[in-house]
Amino acid sequence: MSSADRPALTLALSKGRIFDETLPLLKAAGIEVLEDPEKSRKLIIGTTDPGLQVVLVRATDVPTYVQYGGADLGVTGKDTLIEHGGQGLYQPLDLQIAKCRVSVAVRADFDYAFAVRQGSRLRVATKYVAIAREFFAAKGVHVDLIKLYGSMELAPLTGLADAIVDLVSTGNTLKANNLVEVERIMDISSRLVVNQAALKLKQEPIRHLIDVFSRTVEATQ
Ligand code: AMP
Repeated sequence: MSSADRPALTLALSKGRIFDETLPLLKAAGIEVLEDPEKSRKLIIGTTDPGLQVVLVRATDVPTYVQYGGADLGVTGKDTLIEHGGQGLYQPLDLQIAKCRVSVAVRADFDYAFAVRQGSRLRVATKYVAIAREFFAAKGVHVDLIKLYGSMELAPLTGLADAIVDLVSTGNTLKANNLVEVERIMDISSRLVVNQAALKLKQEPIRHLIDVFSRTVEATQ
């Protein structure tokens, strides 16, 4: 497809909660997505609006696609945005979806409060290195951060780390792995991000989507 045939707007979403919880916002704008990403292997999905297509990317890649113009807009968690840094992105709207929190968790038999009081150096495994670094620095706790890309819960169970910094929603995953939440670092929700150049060049359709999303978010709070 040449760029001349491409729909005016490309929206980057990740599969799962963000995709599922963005659908009602699109619906409020009169837009339905034409394929179910759980059933189709397509990475570019059309919508009932010929001017809008959806691209499916990994959650951590959404800000990168939007930053470099691979997509005009995207929906991404505050956690992912902080880790990315937010360069080149306009962040007009908190969509109040995919809510969870970033927390510190340890094995149930690890005395975290005591270790902190003692001034012990903690080994912390996480995908959220920037968030963890900032949090422990502000608290004055010395940490060795170990970057992981998934299954953080395993790190304290195998002796890789004393603690993890991870997303918690219901707390069921921690409980199932005999871990306890000992600090709540920040609440997370997903935001709409927009490529700064696209906002100038495609102002009208982007403003329209922002307006509809914004009214829908307000109405559901
Ligand atoms: P839960 O068992 O409900 O506390 O969910 C925790 C698991 O789901 C962890 O593995 C998290 O990384 C993941 N998780 C929870 N909420 C989100 C979210 N909003 N976005 C992405 N992953 C999440």
